[in-house]
Amino acid sequence: MSEIVDAWVRRLKGKLRPIGEMTHWERMAAAFELRRSDLVPVAPELDYWQITYAGYSHAEIYNDVDKTTDACIRTWADLRTDAIWMYVDISHQIENFIPPEKRPEHFVHRGDKDYLLFKPVAKTIDEAIELYESRAYERYLEGSRAVTHYVPHMLQLLEFQEKMDRIVPVIVGIATPSNYAETLVEVQQFVRWTVTEPKKVKRYLDLALEERLAALDFYAEIARKHGLHFVCLFGGARTWGPRQLREFGYADEIFVQKAVKLFPYVFWHICGHNLPEAMQLLVQWDGIKAVQYDMPYYSQKLSWPEWCESVARLFAGKRCAMNSPTTQTACHGTPEDVRRMVREFLDATLPHTTAVVMPGCEVDSYSPVENVRAMIEEARRKPLP
Ligand SMILES: [Zn+2]
Repeated sequence: MSEIVDAWVRRLKGKLRPIGEMTHWERMAAAFELRRSDLVPVAPELDYWQITYAGYSHAEIYNDVDKTTDACIRTWADLRTDAIWMYVDISHQIENFIPPEKRPEHFVHRGDKDYLLFKPVAKTIDEAIELYESRAYERYLEGSRAVTHYVPHMLQLLEFQEKMDRIVPVIVGIATPSNYAETLVEVQQFVRWTVTEPKKVKRYLDLALEERLAALDFYAEIARKHGLHFVCLFGGARTWGPRQLREFGYADEIFVQKAVKLFPYVFWHICGHNLPEAMQLLVQWDGIKAVQYDMPYYSQKLSWPEWCESVARLFAGKRCAMNSPTTQTACHGTPEDVRRMVREFLDATLPHTTAVVMPGCEVDSYSPVENVRAMIEEARRKPLP
Protein backbone atom coordinates (compact mmCIF):
# COMPACT_ATOMS: atom_id res chain seq x y z
CA MET A 1 0.00 0.00 0.00
CA SER A 2 1.30 3.41 -0.90
CA GLU A 3 0.24 6.73 0.59
CA ILE A 4 0.95 8.70 -2.56
CA VAL A 5 -1.28 6.37 -4.57
CA ASP A 6 -4.08 6.48 -2.02
CA ALA A 7 -3.97 10.28 -1.94
CA TRP A 8 -4.42 10.39 -5.71
CA VAL A 9 -7.19 7.79 -5.68
CA ARG A 10 -9.08 9.83 -3.06
CA ARG A 11 -8.66 12.94 -5.17
CA LEU A 12 -9.68 11.39 -8.51
CA LYS A 13 -11.93 8.39 -8.08
CA GLY A 14 -15.52 9.12 -9.14
CA LYS A 15 -14.63 12.77 -9.83
CA LEU A 16 -13.16 12.64 -13.33
CA ARG A 17 -15.01 14.12 -16.26
CA PRO A 18 -15.83 11.41 -18.79
CA ILE A 19 -13.99 11.55 -22.10
CA GLY A 20 -16.03 9.92 -24.86
CA GLU A 21 -18.22 6.94 -24.05
CA MET A 22 -15.55 4.36 -23.31
CA THR A 23 -13.00 4.34 -20.54
CA HIS A 24 -9.35 4.83 -21.47
CA TRP A 25 -8.76 1.13 -20.87
CA GLU A 26 -11.69 0.07 -23.11
CA ARG A 27 -10.50 2.39 -25.86
CA MET A 28 -6.95 0.99 -25.84
CA ALA A 29 -8.21 -2.59 -25.63
CA ALA A 30 -10.50 -2.01 -28.63
CA ALA A 31 -7.62 -0.68 -30.73
CA PHE A 32 -5.44 -3.67 -29.80
CA GLU A 33 -8.26 -6.07 -30.68
CA LEU A 34 -8.83 -4.26 -34.01
CA ARG A 35 -12.32 -3.24 -32.91
CA ARG A 36 -14.03 0.09 -33.35
CA SER A 37 -13.70 2.58 -30.47
CA ASP A 38 -15.53 5.82 -29.65
CA LEU A 39 -12.41 7.97 -30.14
CA VAL A 40 -8.93 7.32 -31.49
CA PRO A 41 -6.78 6.42 -28.48
CA VAL A 42 -3.82 8.68 -27.77
CA ALA A 43 -1.01 7.47 -25.51
CA PRO A 44 2.30 9.31 -25.99
CA GLU A 45 5.27 7.71 -24.25
CA LEU A 46 5.91 10.42 -21.67
CA ASP A 47 8.72 8.75 -19.68
CA TYR A 48 11.00 11.68 -18.79
CA TRP A 49 8.70 14.40 -20.04
CA GLN A 50 6.09 13.83 -17.34
CA ILE A 51 8.71 14.37 -14.62
CA THR A 52 9.39 17.96 -15.60
CA TYR A 53 5.78 18.59 -16.61
CA ALA A 54 4.83 17.74 -13.02
CA GLY A 55 7.43 20.23 -11.73
CA TYR A 56 10.29 17.94 -10.72
CA SER A 57 13.88 17.81 -11.93
CA HIS A 58 15.41 14.48 -12.82
CA ALA A 59 17.96 14.79 -10.03
CA GLU A 60 15.05 15.19 -7.62
CA ILE A 61 13.23 12.03 -8.65
CA TYR A 62 16.29 9.87 -9.32
CA ASN A 63 16.20 8.36 -5.86
CA ASP A 64 12.61 9.11 -4.95
CA VAL A 65 10.05 6.54 -6.01
CA ASP A 66 7.07 8.46 -4.57
CA LYS A 67 7.90 11.61 -6.53
CA THR A 68 8.35 9.56 -9.72
CA THR A 69 4.94 7.98 -9.30
CA ASP A 70 3.40 11.31 -8.30
CA ALA A 71 4.71 12.87 -11.53
CA CYS A 72 3.13 10.17 -13.71
CA ILE A 73 -0.28 10.35 -12.04
CA ARG A 74 -0.29 14.16 -11.84
CA THR A 75 0.44 14.41 -15.56
CA TRP A 76 -2.23 11.87 -16.42
CA ALA A 77 -4.84 13.62 -14.24
CA ASP A 78 -4.15 16.82 -16.19
CA LEU A 79 -3.88 15.52 -19.73
CA ARG A 80 -6.05 12.38 -19.56
CA THR A 81 -4.13 10.38 -22.12
CA ASP A 82 -5.43 6.86 -22.75
CA ALA A 83 -2.56 5.16 -20.90
CA ILE A 84 0.02 5.93 -18.23
CA TRP A 85 3.59 5.07 -19.19
CA MET A 86 5.81 4.26 -16.24
CA TYR A 87 9.05 6.21 -15.95
CA VAL A 88 12.12 4.23 -17.06
CA ASP A 89 15.74 5.26 -17.47
CA ILE A 90 18.83 3.38 -18.57
CA SER A 91 20.07 2.82 -15.01
CA HIS A 92 17.05 0.60 -14.29
CA GLN A 93 18.09 -1.57 -17.16
CA ILE A 94 21.84 -2.00 -16.71
CA GLU A 95 22.88 -1.11 -13.14
CA ASN A 96 22.64 -4.73 -12.12
CA PHE A 97 25.41 -5.59 -14.60
CA ILE A 98 27.81 -3.19 -12.85
CA PRO A 99 29.48 -3.59 -9.43
CA PRO A 100 28.15 -0.90 -7.03
CA GLU A 101 31.50 0.90 -6.69
CA LYS A 102 31.80 1.28 -10.47
CA ARG A 103 28.29 2.64 -11.07
CA PRO A 104 29.12 6.35 -10.68
CA GLU A 105 31.56 6.27 -13.61
CA HIS A 106 29.01 4.60 -15.89
CA PHE A 107 26.21 7.13 -15.55
CA VAL A 108 26.33 10.84 -16.28
CA HIS A 109 23.71 13.30 -15.08
CA ARG A 110 23.61 16.55 -17.04
CA GLY A 111 20.88 19.20 -16.80
CA ASP A 112 17.49 18.88 -15.10
CA LYS A 113 15.74 17.91 -18.30
CA ASP A 114 18.50 15.80 -19.86
CA TYR A 115 18.51 12.07 -20.26
CA LEU A 116 20.76 10.05 -18.08
CA LEU A 117 23.82 9.25 -20.20
CA PHE A 118 25.78 6.04 -19.83
CA LYS A 119 28.94 4.32 -20.93
CA PRO A 120 28.95 0.81 -22.36
CA VAL A 121 29.44 -1.97 -19.84
CA ALA A 122 31.67 -4.17 -22.05
CA LYS A 123 34.19 -3.23 -24.73
CA THR A 124 34.76 -6.55 -26.48
CA ILE A 125 32.43 -9.37 -27.43
CA ASP A 126 34.38 -11.70 -25.09
CA GLU A 127 33.88 -9.30 -22.18
CA ALA A 128 30.18 -9.09 -23.01
CA ILE A 129 29.85 -12.88 -23.06
CA GLU A 130 31.78 -13.11 -19.77
CA LEU A 131 29.33 -10.67 -18.12
CA TYR A 132 26.52 -13.09 -18.80
CA GLU A 133 28.45 -16.31 -18.18
CA SER A 134 29.55 -15.06 -14.76
CA ARG A 135 25.95 -14.02 -14.06
CA ALA A 136 27.00 -10.52 -13.12
CA TYR A 137 23.35 -9.45 -13.44
CA GLU A 138 22.40 -11.74 -10.55
CA ARG A 139 25.36 -10.92 -8.33
CA TYR A 140 24.79 -7.17 -8.54
CA LEU A 141 21.01 -7.19 -8.61
CA GLU A 142 20.49 -6.45 -4.94
CA GLY A 143 20.70 -2.71 -4.30
CA SER A 144 20.52 -1.91 -8.03
CA ARG A 145 17.88 0.50 -9.29
CA ALA A 146 15.94 -2.33 -10.90
CA VAL A 147 15.12 -3.41 -7.35
CA THR A 148 15.14 -0.10 -5.47
CA HIS A 149 13.35 2.05 -8.04
CA TYR A 150 11.94 0.36 -11.15
CA VAL A 151 9.94 -2.37 -9.40
CA PRO A 152 8.47 -0.25 -6.56
CA HIS A 153 7.50 2.47 -9.08
CA MET A 154 5.87 -0.09 -11.36
CA LEU A 155 3.95 -1.59 -8.45
CA GLN A 156 2.73 1.82 -7.29
CA LEU A 157 1.35 2.63 -10.73
CA LEU A 158 -0.30 -0.79 -10.99
CA GLU A 159 -1.83 -0.20 -7.56
CA PHE A 160 -3.26 3.06 -8.94
CA GLN A 161 -4.57 1.24 -12.02
CA GLU A 162 -6.33 -1.36 -9.91
CA LYS A 163 -7.70 1.05 -7.28
CA MET A 164 -9.13 3.23 -10.08
CA ASP A 165 -10.99 0.12 -11.32
CA ARG A 166 -8.94 -0.14 -14.49
CA ILE A 167 -10.27 2.98 -16.15
CA VAL A 168 -6.76 3.69 -17.43
CA PRO A 169 -4.07 1.14 -18.24
CA VAL A 170 -0.47 1.38 -17.11
CA ILE A 171 2.09 0.53 -19.77
CA VAL A 172 5.21 -1.23 -18.55
CA GLY A 173 8.22 -1.35 -20.85
CA ILE A 174 10.30 -4.53 -20.98
CA ALA A 175 13.53 -4.67 -22.99
CA THR A 176 14.05 -7.56 -25.42
CA PRO A 177 17.20 -9.70 -25.86
CA SER A 178 18.42 -7.67 -28.85
CA ASN A 179 17.90 -4.44 -26.92
CA TYR A 180 20.03 -5.72 -24.03
CA ALA A 181 22.69 -7.16 -26.33
CA GLU A 182 23.06 -3.81 -28.07
CA THR A 183 22.77 -1.56 -25.03
CA LEU A 184 25.50 -3.28 -22.99
CA VAL A 185 28.11 -2.77 -25.71
CA GLU A 186 26.68 0.05 -27.88
CA VAL A 187 24.72 -0.53 -31.04
CA GLN A 188 27.44 0.17 -33.64
CA GLN A 189 29.82 -2.28 -31.96
CA PHE A 190 27.21 -4.95 -31.86
CA VAL A 191 26.21 -4.53 -35.49
CA ARG A 192 29.88 -4.66 -36.53
CA TRP A 193 30.35 -7.95 -34.65
CA THR A 194 27.36 -9.52 -36.40
CA VAL A 195 29.58 -9.39 -39.49
CA THR A 196 33.05 -10.08 -38.01
CA GLU A 197 32.14 -12.46 -35.15
CA PRO A 198 28.82 -14.12 -36.01
CA LYS A 199 29.44 -17.25 -33.88
CA LYS A 200 30.26 -15.24 -30.78
CA VAL A 201 27.32 -12.94 -31.40
CA LYS A 202 25.05 -15.96 -31.45
CA ARG A 203 26.47 -17.16 -28.13
CA TYR A 204 26.04 -13.66 -26.68
CA LEU A 205 22.43 -13.41 -27.89
CA ASP A 206 21.62 -16.86 -26.50
CA LEU A 207 22.83 -15.71 -23.09
CA ALA A 208 20.88 -12.46 -23.32
CA LEU A 209 17.80 -14.47 -24.28
CA GLU A 210 18.24 -16.79 -21.29
CA GLU A 211 18.38 -13.82 -18.91
CA ARG A 212 15.35 -12.16 -20.56
CA LEU A 213 13.25 -15.33 -20.41
CA ALA A 214 14.00 -15.53 -16.68
CA ALA A 215 13.03 -11.85 -16.38
CA LEU A 216 9.65 -12.67 -17.96
CA ASP A 217 9.09 -15.22 -15.19
CA PHE A 218 9.58 -12.41 -12.71
CA TYR A 219 7.07 -10.16 -14.55
CA ALA A 220 4.60 -13.05 -14.69
CA GLU A 221 4.98 -13.64 -10.99
CA ILE A 222 4.97 -10.05 -9.71
CA ALA A 223 3.53 -7.69 -12.32
CA ARG A 224 0.78 -9.90 -13.67
CA LYS A 225 -0.43 -10.60 -10.16
CA HIS A 226 -0.75 -6.84 -9.67
CA GLY A 227 -2.82 -6.32 -12.81
CA LEU A 228 -0.34 -5.68 -15.62
CA HIS A 229 -2.06 -6.14 -19.01
CA PHE A 230 -0.37 -3.65 -21.36
CA VAL A 231 3.26 -4.35 -22.14
CA CYS A 232 5.63 -2.52 -24.47
CA LEU A 233 8.51 -4.66 -25.68
CA PHE A 234 11.47 -2.39 -26.36
CA GLY A 235 13.04 -3.94 -29.41
CA GLY A 236 16.66 -3.46 -30.38
CA ALA A 237 17.74 -4.52 -33.86
CA ARG A 238 16.67 -1.18 -35.26
CA THR A 239 19.59 -0.85 -37.63
CA TRP A 240 19.81 -4.50 -38.62
CA GLY A 241 19.59 -5.30 -42.30
CA PRO A 242 17.53 -8.17 -43.74
CA ARG A 243 20.47 -10.60 -43.41
CA GLN A 244 20.97 -9.82 -39.72
CA LEU A 245 17.26 -10.09 -39.04
CA ARG A 246 17.24 -13.55 -40.67
CA GLU A 247 20.33 -14.69 -38.81
CA PHE A 248 19.80 -13.16 -35.37
CA GLY A 249 16.08 -12.31 -35.16
CA TYR A 250 15.38 -15.68 -33.53
CA ALA A 251 16.25 -14.50 -30.00
CA ASP A 252 13.60 -11.77 -30.02
CA GLU A 253 11.12 -14.11 -31.65
CA ILE A 254 11.48 -16.73 -28.88
CA PHE A 255 11.17 -13.95 -26.29
CA VAL A 256 7.99 -12.65 -27.93
CA GLN A 257 6.41 -16.10 -28.00
CA LYS A 258 6.72 -16.27 -24.23
CA ALA A 259 5.66 -12.65 -23.54
CA VAL A 260 2.41 -12.91 -25.50
CA LYS A 261 1.37 -15.98 -23.52
CA LEU A 262 1.75 -14.03 -20.28
CA PHE A 263 0.06 -10.73 -21.14
CA PRO A 264 -3.01 -9.95 -23.26
CA TYR A 265 -1.93 -6.62 -24.77
CA VAL A 266 1.64 -6.78 -25.98
CA PHE A 267 3.07 -4.31 -28.48
CA TRP A 268 6.47 -3.87 -30.05
CA HIS A 269 8.47 -0.61 -29.95
CA ILE A 270 10.78 -0.11 -32.92
CA CYS A 271 12.12 3.43 -33.13
CA GLY A 272 14.55 5.18 -35.44
CA HIS A 273 14.52 4.65 -39.19
CA ASN A 274 12.49 1.53 -39.90
CA LEU A 275 13.00 -0.90 -42.73
CA PRO A 276 10.02 -2.40 -44.54
CA GLU A 277 11.63 -5.83 -43.81
CA ALA A 278 11.44 -5.17 -40.08
CA MET A 279 7.74 -4.27 -40.38
CA GLN A 280 7.12 -7.52 -42.26
CA LEU A 281 8.83 -9.51 -39.54
CA LEU A 282 6.64 -7.87 -36.89
CA VAL A 283 3.54 -8.95 -38.78
CA GLN A 284 4.76 -12.55 -38.78
CA TRP A 285 5.41 -12.79 -35.04
CA ASP A 286 2.17 -14.15 -33.65
CA GLY A 287 0.54 -12.59 -30.66
CA ILE A 288 1.91 -9.04 -30.91
CA LYS A 289 -1.22 -6.90 -31.13
CA ALA A 290 0.23 -3.52 -32.05
CA VAL A 291 3.45 -1.93 -33.27
CA GLN A 292 4.84 1.45 -32.21
CA TYR A 293 6.84 2.20 -35.34
CA ASP A 294 8.71 5.28 -36.51
CA MET A 295 10.09 6.93 -39.67
CA PRO A 296 10.99 5.20 -42.94
CA TYR A 297 14.59 4.16 -43.53
CA TYR A 298 16.73 6.78 -45.30
CA SER A 299 16.73 5.02 -48.67
CA GLN A 300 12.92 4.81 -48.83
CA LYS A 301 11.78 7.78 -50.87
CA LEU A 302 8.36 7.92 -49.27
CA SER A 303 6.37 10.87 -47.99
CA TRP A 304 5.01 10.64 -44.44
CA PRO A 305 1.44 9.77 -45.56
CA GLU A 306 2.77 7.18 -48.05
CA TRP A 307 4.90 5.51 -45.39
CA CYS A 308 1.99 5.42 -42.92
CA GLU A 309 -0.30 4.01 -45.59
CA SER A 310 2.15 1.27 -46.60
CA VAL A 311 2.46 0.15 -42.98
CA ALA A 312 -1.32 0.32 -42.44
CA ARG A 313 -1.95 -1.88 -45.50
CA LEU A 314 0.59 -4.40 -44.23
CA PHE A 315 -1.02 -4.35 -40.76
CA ALA A 316 -4.63 -4.69 -42.05
CA GLY A 317 -6.48 -7.38 -40.08
CA LYS A 318 -3.30 -8.15 -38.11
CA ARG A 319 -1.90 -5.25 -36.08
CA CYS A 320 -2.89 -1.91 -34.64
CA ALA A 321 -0.60 0.89 -35.91
CA MET A 322 0.91 3.26 -33.33
CA ASN A 323 2.62 6.43 -34.48
CA SER A 324 2.66 10.18 -35.01
CA PRO A 325 3.89 12.81 -34.78
CA THR A 326 7.59 11.93 -35.01
CA THR A 327 9.58 12.47 -31.83
CA GLN A 328 11.46 15.27 -33.63
CA THR A 329 8.28 17.10 -34.65
CA ALA A 330 6.87 16.70 -31.14
CA CYS A 331 9.98 18.47 -29.85
CA HIS A 332 10.95 20.95 -32.56
CA GLY A 333 7.76 21.46 -34.60
CA THR A 334 4.88 23.86 -34.02
CA PRO A 335 1.51 22.72 -32.66
CA GLU A 336 0.20 23.05 -36.23
CA ASP A 337 2.96 20.71 -37.52
CA VAL A 338 1.99 18.22 -34.82
CA ARG A 339 -1.69 18.42 -35.74
CA ARG A 340 -0.97 17.94 -39.44
CA MET A 341 1.19 14.87 -38.83
CA VAL A 342 -1.42 13.30 -36.58
CA ARG A 343 -4.11 13.92 -39.23
CA GLU A 344 -1.97 12.50 -42.02
CA PHE A 345 -1.20 9.38 -39.99
CA LEU A 346 -4.87 8.82 -39.14
CA ASP A 347 -6.13 9.53 -42.67
CA ALA A 348 -3.62 7.01 -44.04
CA THR A 349 -4.16 4.37 -41.35
CA LEU A 350 -7.84 4.22 -40.34
CA PRO A 351 -9.15 2.93 -43.69
CA HIS A 352 -7.00 -0.19 -43.13
CA THR A 353 -6.56 -0.84 -39.41
CA THR A 354 -6.91 0.67 -35.93
CA ALA A 355 -4.53 3.35 -34.68
CA VAL A 356 -3.12 4.72 -31.46
CA VAL A 357 -1.61 8.21 -31.63
CA MET A 358 1.85 8.26 -30.05
CA PRO A 359 5.28 9.25 -31.35
CA GLY A 360 7.50 6.36 -32.48
CA CYS A 361 9.76 6.87 -29.48
CA GLU A 362 9.50 8.57 -26.13
CA VAL A 363 8.50 12.22 -26.08
CA ASP A 364 11.65 14.29 -25.61
CA SER A 365 11.98 16.03 -22.26
CA TYR A 366 12.30 19.38 -24.04
CA SER A 367 9.09 19.01 -26.07
CA PRO A 368 6.75 21.98 -25.50
CA VAL A 369 3.57 21.34 -23.54
CA GLU A 370 1.51 22.91 -26.37
CA ASN A 371 2.76 20.21 -28.73
CA VAL A 372 1.74 17.39 -26.44
CA ARG A 373 -1.65 19.02 -25.93
CA ALA A 374 -2.05 19.50 -29.71
CA MET A 375 -1.33 15.79 -30.25
CA ILE A 376 -4.03 14.77 -27.77
CA GLU A 377 -6.62 17.25 -29.06
CA GLU A 378 -6.07 16.35 -32.69
CA ALA A 379 -6.42 12.61 -32.02
CA ARG A 380 -9.71 13.21 -30.20
CA ARG A 381 -11.10 15.44 -32.95
CA LYS A 382 -10.84 12.75 -35.59
CA PRO A 383 -14.18 11.15 -36.44
CA LEU A 384 -13.80 7.37 -36.79
CA PRO A 385 -14.81 5.73 -40.08
ZN1 LIG B 1 12.67 4.33 -28.79
